[in-house]
Amino acid sequence: QNSIIVSKRYESTTAAVDTSNAQLEKFEYQAEVSRLMDLIVHSLYSNKEVFLRELVSNASDALDKLRFLSVTEPELLKEAVDLDIRIQADKDNGIITITDTGIGMTKEELVDSLGTIAHSGTAKFLKALKESQEAGSDSNLIGQFGVGFYSSFLVSDKVVVSTKSPKSDKQYVWEGEAGASSFTIREETDPDKLLPRGTRLTLYLKRDDKEFAHPEKIQKLVKNYSQFVSFPIYTWQEKG
Ligand code: ADP
Ligand code: MG
Repeated sequence: QNSIIVSKRYESTTAAVDTSNAQLEKFEYQAEVSRLMDLIVHSLYSNKEVFLRELVSNASDALDKLRFLSVTEPELLKEAVDLDIRIQADKDNGIITITDTGIGMTKEELVDSLGTIAHSGTAKFLKALKESQEAGSDSNLIGQFGVGFYSSFLVSDKVVVSTKSPKSDKQYVWEGEAGASSFTIREETDPDKLLPRGTRLTLYLKRDDKEFAHPEKIQKLVKNYSQFVSFPIYTWQEKG
C-alpha cells in the first residue's frame, strides 16, 4: 500500500453521547473530511458506481497488508481463514455488505483512518478543489481523483464498519451517516457479528440507489472495475 499519511493530527474532542451506553463514543470528523463528505453527499456526480471499486480496493489493500506483515509476524494468521473478499447484496432491503479477511483495524486505527484524511489521493483532490474554486466542477473531480472510503456516501445514507485486527482482542464498530459531522465507535457485542479477522462494511443504500444491491449489478461492477484484484471476490444474494 503506497498511501501517504498527510494528516494524523486529530483535532476533535471525544465525548460519551449516551450515558446509558458508556461504550458508544462520538467523534467529530477532521474539518477536511467534513468538507469532503459535504461535497460527496451534495454532489451531482453521476458515476456513483465507483464506490464499489474504492471499497474493493480497500479490502484488497487490507489483504495485501496482512499477507506482507505475516511474513515477519506469522501469528497474525492465527485465525485460519482464507484471504478473500465477499460481497453480499440484499436487494429487498437495499443493503450491501463487503467483507474481507484482511488486516482489519484497531480502535485507534479506525479513528485515524475513517475520521481524518489519511489518503494521498483525497488530499490532492481537496487541493484541486480549492484551486478550481468552482462549485460546478466538483463532479468531475470526484471521478478524476477517487475519494476512497468516503465514496461509500455517494450511494449510502448510513455506513457501518465492523472490524477486527489480529493485534487486538476486540472488534470495533464505526458508524457514520451521510451529511453528519460526527461518527461513533463502539465495541462489537453481538456474537453473531464477530469476525475471525478483517473488516465488514455494511452500506444502507439511499432510496434512489437501491438498484446497486442487485447481485447482477454487483457482478458487473466487479467485472468492470476490479478484475485485477489478486484475491478471490465472491458475490452472492441474501436468501429471502
Ligand atoms: P486509501 O485507501 O487511499 O488509504 P481510503 O479512504 O480508501 O484511502 O481508506 C482510508 C484508510 O482506511 C486506509 O488507508 C486503511 O487504513 C483504512 N481502511 C479502509 N478500508 C479498510 C479495510 N477494508 N480494512 C482495513 N483498513 C481499511
Ligand atoms: Mg482506498
